[in-house]
Amino acid sequence: MNIVLLGGPGAGKGTQAAMLVEEFKTPHISTGDMLRAAVAAGTDLGKKAKSFMDAGELVPDDVIIGLVIDRLQEPDTDAGFILDGFPRTSAQAVALDAELGKLERPLDAALLIDVDPEVIVKRLCSRRMCRDCGFIGNESDAACPKCGGEMYQRDDDNEATVRNRLEVYEKSTSPLIDYYRGSELLVAIDGDRDPKVVYADVKEALSL
Ligand code: ADP
Ligand code: ZN
Repeated sequence: MNIVLLGGPGAGKGTQAAMLVEEFKTPHISTGDMLRAAVAAGTDLGKKAKSFMDAGELVPDDVIIGLVIDRLQEPDTDAGFILDGFPRTSAQAVALDAELGKLERPLDAALLIDVDPEVIVKRLCSRRMCRDCGFIGNESDAACPKCGGEMYQRDDDNEATVRNRLEVYEKSTSPLIDYYRGSELLVAIDGDRDPKVVYADVKEALSL
């Protein structure tokens, strides 16, 4: 399966991707995770990206497109991939189509996880992540329920930044819904339900 996950910040893309990875072992390519790893490692990319991320703005297209294209050359993606957080702009979507055309590995679906913005603000302000395994939980998790690791709050999960991320999503990313509808790849799912219920729908929508 070659899929892209669409949906606002906090829609549950990472959670659904983690469930797909666990069941199908498909590589998960999350540009947000890649950028956070670069920031933590203090690389040039991380230094370039950090101020954009902290403000809830998009990292420039040229930076992010190169990163994803490089990742798609790695052999583990031959059997499929789940792109999460990319594409986020029309330029990124066009660049992705061009690269997948070149690789002769077209997309099978663009899966939209749809959630109301006010639900998102609440979710993201209470979201906590595991430092060790990346598990996505919330403020009621004192330690990681999966590995016992320390839970932390992402720098950009505060209300002001979340509202900006939602605006950026509406303006730059939501037009991609029509883009993928136009190429008949779009499948939409109501993401405002228990993650396991959403997952059942995800599998049905992808005929898995
Ligand atoms: P979320 O979906 O919860 O907003 P992500 O973890 O996907 O968060 O991304 C966090 C931040 O990383 C974004 O706000 C943005 O600054 C940057 N980023 C991630 N993916 C992209 C992308 N495809 N294009 C530009 N910036 C990106
Ligand atoms: Zn953990």
